[in-house]
Amino acid sequence: MALSGLAAFQLAQRMGLAEVRATGMHRLDLYAASLQREIGKYAFLPGVLELESDVQGLLAPASDEAARASYAAKVNNYLEQLNERAGTLAAYVINTQGRVVAASNWRRADGYLGEDLSFRPYFLDAMRNGSGRVFGIGTTRGEPGYYLASALSDSQQTLGVAVIKVSLDQLEQSWATVEAPVLVTDEHGVAILSSVSDWKFSTLRPLDEAARAAFEQSQQYSRRALQPLGLQIVRELGNGARLVRLARSGQEMATMFPVSGQFLAQSRLLPGTPWTLTVLSHLEQVEQVAQSRALAAAIAAAFLSLLALMLNERRRHLRDRLAAREALQSANDALERKVARRTADLSAANQQLQDEVAERIRTEATLRAAQDELVQAGKLAVIGQLSTGIAHELNQPLTALRTLSGNSLKFLERGDTATTRVNLERISQLADRMGHITGQLRSFARKSSGERQRVPLGQALDNALSVLEARVQHGGVQLRFDVARPEPVAWCDGNRIEQVLVNLIHNALDAMEGCEQPCLEVHCRTQGDQVLLCVRDHGPGLSEAAQARLFEPFFTTKEPGVGLGLGLPLSAGIVRDCGGSLTGANHPQGGAIFTLVLPLAPPASAAAVSAAPGAPPTEGLDNERHE
Ligand code: ADP
Repeated sequence: MALSGLAAFQLAQRMGLAEVRATGMHRLDLYAASLQREIGKYAFLPGVLELESDVQGLLAPASDEAARASYAAKVNNYLEQLNERAGTLAAYVINTQGRVVAASNWRRADGYLGEDLSFRPYFLDAMRNGSGRVFGIGTTRGEPGYYLASALSDSQQTLGVAVIKVSLDQLEQSWATVEAPVLVTDEHGVAILSSVSDWKFSTLRPLDEAARAAFEQSQQYSRRALQPLGLQIVRELGNGARLVRLARSGQEMATMFPVSGQFLAQSRLLPGTPWTLTVLSHLEQVEQVAQSRALAAAIAAAFLSLLALMLNERRRHLRDRLAAREALQSANDALERKVARRTADLSAANQQLQDEVAERIRTEATLRAAQDELVQAGKLAVIGQLSTGIAHELNQPLTALRTLSGNSLKFLERGDTATTRVNLERISQLADRMGHITGQLRSFARKSSGERQRVPLGQALDNALSVLEARVQHGGVQLRFDVARPEPVAWCDGNRIEQVLVNLIHNALDAMEGCEQPCLEVHCRTQGDQVLLCVRDHGPGLSEAAQARLFEPFFTTKEPGVGLGLGLPLSAGIVRDCGGSLTGANHPQGGAIFTLVLPLAPPASAAAVSAAPGAPPTEGLDNERHE
């Protein structure tokens, strides 16, 4: 900002200065021409006097006093008229001794007649060089004017000097209206003409001693105190131009233009004179324009800097954003790579898991098959254990059948058809009973489908008991059945649940073997959406070891060949498959109690059971009976 302001200031100043300089030059030409014209008007006038015979006569050395006096009177009149017509200040003739011999102002008391002007520079110059031009102040009346002197001579010698004093007041007055101060200085730097009246007879440069002495002697400026103007040269610009400073003088002057401050001074020598014309152009306006331009440039620079700053900031912001985006992209890429790697790992792990699951399914299928086999084996084991009782059970009706059929034959031979009929009816009843027993066994031994269906638990309990009926009767076991009404219906595989019940009752009967009052209690009721069935015996209860390892495969406390230790684990597995649970504990009043919890069956309409629940065990029997 400062630099651009400074540059703009200097540029504007230089341009302004150049403009002022051109204007000043123009003024210089104008003023010089007008001055030249003003002076030139009278230049020939003193020389013309030489042609006047009266003047010649007045100055001729040969003339006597009387002739000279008459010549003088004529010349005086002539000069008076000339002065009046030409409009000059004075016109007079000086003899070679420097004394005024004729003058236009001869009538006036303060006229020049008889005055000795031999010391005046214009006289001396004219005597020496033929002409003299000096600006000065009159010694008699103290009137400033321009003295034009011309030597008057006849064919042999110089007779005297004719002088015309011209006033330059008119010129000065016309200068008073110019736009800039203008002044004319003599060869010593004394201002002889000026558009500022106060500057007149002041010096532009200090006067040296010789000049002062010369002025003293010639009284060119009539002993006026020549005060310095106080012009200080700041810088020489060449070609007669320089920057100057004028100090403010004591009193304010009423002028058209400023008379103090910084100026451009342009000077030129006036041809044919030792004078210098100087035009002063004030630079205040140039300074002001330069200052305002500098301010504008500084503001523009500030604005541009701000704009550049904003653009730079924006560019940086964009760059940052780009970098952030790139970083995000690379992070994203890395993440994607990681995800891809993890996905690959995961799919490998998944594949492994799938393989494992498949393996497990295979194992489970194998296990299930093994479990099915075991269930079957368990059933067969139970049947094996029961075989003695069954054989005994079947033996009795068989013996009765044999006896009855033998008797029937005899009664038939006798023709006693009535008794034969009774026997045959008995035989039919016995066959029914035997069919019932074998039917139950077959149904128990049958492999289950594993499908869940509505199973009325009272009926399942009856079926289980019928398998063990012989043992119950044989052991004299008291049965206390408490099945809620309406009969609770479980949602399970009926055949398998019967096997579970057979196992539980079988274990209870085993436990009560040798008891004095064996008693088996069974409670069955609905609880919420579940069915509870408790089998309690009055045996010794579960030992501590049995409690800890109750559902462990092959745990048994029974004799080898009697127990396999698979009954409870298989039962628990079946119940679990049905979505239920089996727990065993000791009853507080003695004996063991096993609690079977099964899901409650949905209503018959929703269950969509094709076959009648609990039908299979009786179905075979019915068929048998029909056969
Ligand atoms: P097993 O009957 O072939 O021994 P289980 O799995 O059915 O196999 O029974 C395991 C063991 O649990 C039995 O050997 C017995 O010690 C114990 N146990 C089962 N039920 C009862 C019960 N009601 N009273 C006492 N102990 C029982």
